[in-house]
Amino acid sequence: MKRVVLLGGGYVTLHAYGALVRRLRGELRRGEIEIVVISADTVHNFHGFTGEVVAGLLPIALTQTPLTEAMPRARVLHARVTRVDLVARRVHFTDDELAYDALVVGTGGREPLDAVDGLAGRGLTLRGPGDLADLLQRVQVLDGPVVVVGGGLAGVELAAALAARAAPVVLVQSADRVVPALHTEQPRLAARCTAELGRLGVDVRTGVRVAAVDDGSVTLSDGSVVRTHVVLATTGQRAVALAGLESLPRDDRGRLVTTRDLLVAPDVWSAGDAACVAHPRSGLPVTANALWAIKAGDHVGRNVARALRGRSGTPFRYLGLGQAASFGVGRGVADLYGFPLTGWVAWLMRVGFFLRFMPSRSRALRVPGELARRSRAGGPPTSLQTAVPR
Ligand SMILES: Cc1cc2nc3c(=O)[nH]c(=O)nc-3n(C[C@H](O)[C@H](O)[C@H](O)COP(=O)(O)OP(=O)(O)OC[C@H]3O[C@@H](n4cnc5c(N)ncnc54)[C@H](O)[C@@H]3O)c2cc1C
Repeated sequence: MKRVVLLGGGYVTLHAYGALVRRLRGELRRGEIEIVVISADTVHNFHGFTGEVVAGLLPIALTQTPLTEAMPRARVLHARVTRVDLVARRVHFTDDELAYDALVVGTGGREPLDAVDGLAGRGLTLRGPGDLADLLQRVQVLDGPVVVVGGGLAGVELAAALAARAAPVVLVQSADRVVPALHTEQPRLAARCTAELGRLGVDVRTGVRVAAVDDGSVTLSDGSVVRTHVVLATTGQRAVALAGLESLPRDDRGRLVTTRDLLVAPDVWSAGDAACVAHPRSGLPVTANALWAIKAGDHVGRNVARALRGRSGTPFRYLGLGQAASFGVGRGVADLYGFPLTGWVAWLMRVGFFLRFMPSRSRALRVPGELARRSRAGGPPTSLQTAVPR
């Protein structure tokens, strides 16, 4: 029996799994191949609807699918991977180890909290197990503003969602404008993002950095101090570092540099936020977002299936689609193949895309009704009772 080990429980793993099951149905049925998922989290977190959850428009449970439910043909191990031995072809994880014939590194990225004095241990992020539930719990007992650090698309969307929930928000952005990358490509959409933050009353501080964080305040590089107990970091990310992979080529964000077939070492593939994947046309690294993790994860699954049948891999050829953000029901911005869209069209397109890629059909079907009901009711705070137990 051959064993495929998928590291992480995110988009890469889910879509690599899907491609493997579609292509290796017979081998899986006959027990010739085993798929093992090793994940630090028991659920797949559908990050796309994080803004809606934070704004109180969706219950958190709709965005979390237990990995055992999403990947029923896999053996799912709830454990943290500590080391990969590329020579012995073994993965070491909490209290155990396992041999692999094919390995997929889909462990994603993390915000580099240690870049700011005091942020590590105090700053919240939204990538780890329980992170989103922690944030929801903290904003229920607010005694000051939430400070959102980082004014990229994710930071702007989260700041807007928090403000829609009636929390005062200070958004700190080191560049001289929010969503700078969008400004270069789609100035009209970037202007709409700025206008939406203004409409929601977000206090945007550009051209300043967070210099230090302590238990009750954030000090900015211009000397100003914001009294707060809740700091949310959306400051970009570094790939999760796994011991044993240090010798492999990496970029300046610690991401594993892949070949065109998405290999990083013999019989080891990677994609998503853990990997530096070259765009098939421009050769530049593709954006670290769910769309690219889904498409590259799917391609990894196909190439692993080919390798297990003794065939060579094929190059990753996906060219991209665009990006989108939401500022409340009917208030979207989207860049679709370079065309700027706003308002209901952008919002519906974004929701439709997310529903198509949610791992659970039953949860996806409940989303439109919840959005309609909760937005009519003014977006009541999300109940934490509905969180998936872990
Ligand atoms: C708040 C937020 C909102 C976002 N919104 C959008 C959006 O609207 N649109 C969009 O396209 N993208 C969005 N993104 C980005 C998108 O979610 C990521 O690009 C995508 O999740 C990357 O997929 P991945 O599979 O590489 O990693 P992830 O989905 O992050 O999965 C990584 C997995 O690895 C696990 N893991 C990590 N370390 C270990 C270890 N040592 N051992 C075992 N398991 C481990 C984690 O628990 C997790 O299960 C958002 C991200 C965040 C944080």
